[in-house]
Amino acid sequence: MGRPLACSASSSELARPDPSPPQWRLGWLSPSYLREFPADLFVYLGSGLPEDSGTIYWAVDATHGGELRFGSGDGFNFVELRTLMVATDWGNDRSMGEMALAGHAKALLEWHESSRFCGQCGAQTVTIDVGRRKQCTSDSCKKKIYPRVDPVIVLLVVDKRNDRALLSRRSRFVPRMWSCLAGFIEPGESLEEAVRRETWEVTGIEVGQVIYHSSQPWPVGPGSMPCQLMVGFFAHAKSFDIQVNKEALEDAQWHSREEVEKALTFAEYEKAQRTAAEKVSQMCRGVEKGTSFSTDFNVESGELAPMFIPGPFAIAHHLISSWVNQGASI
Ligand SMILES: [Zn+2]
Repeated sequence: MGRPLACSASSSELARPDPSPPQWRLGWLSPSYLREFPADLFVYLGSGLPEDSGTIYWAVDATHGGELRFGSGDGFNFVELRTLMVATDWGNDRSMGEMALAGHAKALLEWHESSRFCGQCGAQTVTIDVGRRKQCTSDSCKKKIYPRVDPVIVLLVVDKRNDRALLSRRSRFVPRMWSCLAGFIEPGESLEEAVRRETWEVTGIEVGQVIYHSSQPWPVGPGSMPCQLMVGFFAHAKSFDIQVNKEALEDAQWHSREEVEKALTFAEYEKAQRTAAEKVSQMCRGVEKGTSFSTDFNVESGELAPMFIPGPFAIAHHLISSWVNQGASI
């Protein structure tokens, strides 16, 4: 559960202890592998473009219902989605499109797992609409249950007058990584109110104008929230003294545009990608059975920047790089 099937660009590369690890992408199995799985476990993901010969994509939770039989030489392995996300070639549109499908599948399958019983009456639920909905089996209830999405605000606080941006660190971040502020939306709160409240709560800074930037589904958060929707904003600071709430943040500091520009170090991301790809290869060779996100960025060698920001797979990266590149217009 939660670990999509991955495959390397070439299965023969698995046996090769090579300093340049293979490219990893999502692994697809034909229906012949899945004959033992009951039909109601399959969740419809969508159909491919005509150039894909109208292929129809399904997801199935392989921890239930049947056994997958493929040999170690087939080049397949189950890999944490976060690790695969870092290991995938971010410049390859097809691989990244498949990552989006993997996120969609993971969110739906985890929602299925956590919604086996009706929250209203406690009766069992069944899958309907090819896995896109569930319904309570009690005749007196029949409540329909929809997949869950949890909105999260991600914000870059900007000091327009002094041309600075506020970056912060949480204790769970890997060393040297700084990022945007982020927080959940309270029930009954607007997105703009959430931006102002979150900034005030964790840094003591007052925010005036709030400007929407973009959004991103994030299906690799905690298991209790199978899909977060990250909504990104710029927040213009009205006050500038930082009072860090140490329960929420390890640190928060203003950084000049030059400092932030240096933190956009693609060498770091390339190293992280190579490290993650090698980790997946090691797992496939049986060297390493588990991994965690934090070790993905544990780059020990080479020239290290004093700080870096999350990679291009995260909305925080795009908020920060937009501010660096667009300058005073934000
Ligand atoms: Zn019910």
